[in-house]
Amino acid sequence: MKQELKQFGEINLSRKILQAVEAMGFEEPSPIQAQTIPLALEGHDVIGQAQTGTGKTAAFGIPTVEKVMEKNHRIQALVLTPTRELAIQTAEELNKIGKFKRVRTLPIYGGQSIDRQIRALKRGVHIIVGTPGRLLDHLHRETIRLGDVQTLVLDEADEMLDMGFIEDIETIIRNLPEERQTLLFSATMPGPIEKLSRRYMKNPQQVTITRENLTVPLIDQVYYETRQKFDGLCRVLDVEETGKLIIFCRTKRAVDDLAASLDARGYSAGGLHGDLSQIQRDRVMKKFREGRIDVLIATDVAARGIDIDDITHVINYDIPQDHESYVHRIGRTGRAGRTGVAMTFIEPKEYRQLRLIMKLAHTKIQRRELPSASDILE
Ligand code: ADP
Ligand code: MG
Repeated sequence: MKQELKQFGEINLSRKILQAVEAMGFEEPSPIQAQTIPLALEGHDVIGQAQTGTGKTAAFGIPTVEKVMEKNHRIQALVLTPTRELAIQTAEELNKIGKFKRVRTLPIYGGQSIDRQIRALKRGVHIIVGTPGRLLDHLHRETIRLGDVQTLVLDEADEMLDMGFIEDIETIIRNLPEERQTLLFSATMPGPIEKLSRRYMKNPQQVTITRENLTVPLIDQVYYETRQKFDGLCRVLDVEETGKLIIFCRTKRAVDDLAASLDARGYSAGGLHGDLSQIQRDRVMKKFREGRIDVLIATDVAARGIDIDDITHVINYDIPQDHESYVHRIGRTGRAGRTGVAMTFIEPKEYRQLRLIMKLAHTKIQRRELPSASDILE
């Protein structure tokens, strides 16, 4: 394996990109960045695998923006991403990276007025970050042309496949030039992704950052076993020092119910799930980001890839369906070198499921007793 680069300055980046990285407060590249950025700059197709919160966005964002020719106002790079929130967030990060180079990135996602997107496209953009469905819509209307795309990025590839986007992705890829660079990033690398990469990538260089060389400190992981989860949750919230926290529920209905119950108990909570309109979703996310609500209650799908600073706690109010979901959920905290706590509530009959998660995620989740009434009075 190549010697890891310790400084952004050691990577062959232009001055304007280095300036942007510095303005973003990135002091040194994360391990996935140190290994994938040079390969991508050399023109290789790259598969990057690393856990959530390890800086995969900039890992593809920096070489992608670097390659754009800013004088050419055609779409030169396309980033596919699973959710609307992620499209917005990723476009924001790419706009920061491209700030001094004046590279413009536009998010394209369902739920926003298509006319508004068409107007924004007409002003000229270099990079599009889009969700597959809305992108296809634009392709059918011929409001987006992808004939000049030189870089394709599949971000959170595992999520996109889980969400059933494979056919949409393949249709989009057929609209791209054969001659292009393809970068694929994912937290996990299940079989279908390898198949996708074999089909659409040319001699890809694979970089895998394993848990051992991650810089992210381990998240404090605990579980509570109780038959009365709501009561247990309230006790924990009463005694625990928390900043922003995300609570995961299995269904949209459960999200709404829990939001209402917590609200009635005086917590400032907001729900996020796929049945809300885009305006409602944006509003909740904005409030949460700005700290006007402390608790975000979400389904898995709605919370995918969300990167919000200073989330201190992730609470699995309903046990995740599998270990991959567990890893994604808890990855919402402990980001970029911060510490975090992940709590999972289980009913006694769910212990076996929890044990399986621990085994498959190679992680230990400690049992913790619920605070008693006397703890709460103190
Ligand atoms: P991933 O896609 O791997 O889940 P993100 O790209 O969303 O992770 O990055 C997680 C957080 O880390 C973001 O807030 C990002 O701005 C920050 N970050 C990324 N790279 C660096 C770096 N080199 N130094 C400091 N912070 C970084
Ligand atoms: Mg990501």
